[in-house]
Amino acid sequence: MAGEAPADCLFCKIIAGEVPATVVRETDTTFAFRDINPQAPAHILVIPKVHHPDAASLAAAEPQIAADVLREAGEVAAEEKLESYRLVFNTGSGAGQTVFHAHVHLLGGRGLQWPPG
Ligand code: 5GP
Ligand code: ZN
Repeated sequence: MAGEAPADCLFCKIIAGEVPATVVRETDTTFAFRDINPQAPAHILVIPKVHHPDAASLAAAEPQIAADVLREAGEVAAEEKLESYRLVFNTGSGAGQTVFHAHVHLLGGRGLQWPPG
């Protein structure tokens, strides 16, 4: 769906300032904030301000904004001085997606094994 925010979307509420978050960076199209349950010393979520349920839906509907999200992830990694980091898009509940507003996890600040398990 193209951009209309469901009233109950947690990340839309964070963007609107209705739910507090530790904001890292903000642009016209993106928002970056610290994950409330960090899995690494640096664990930041980068999201589009427009609502789409997952990253693939965002990329299909608004590829420029998907690119903005990726570029912002790189900017955040640079600001956090992360030489190595991982970007993760959980897609679908079977893969661990719990918030159905497109987001990328930026994880860094510790060793990251591959494959992740
Ligand atoms: P998912 O599991 O959907 O890929 O990622 C959702 C992420 O949102 C999880 O890592 C979870 O810790 C984070 N999260 C859930 N609720 C909140 C919240 O209220 N504030 C913040 N900052 N992060 C949240
Ligand atoms: Zn949303």
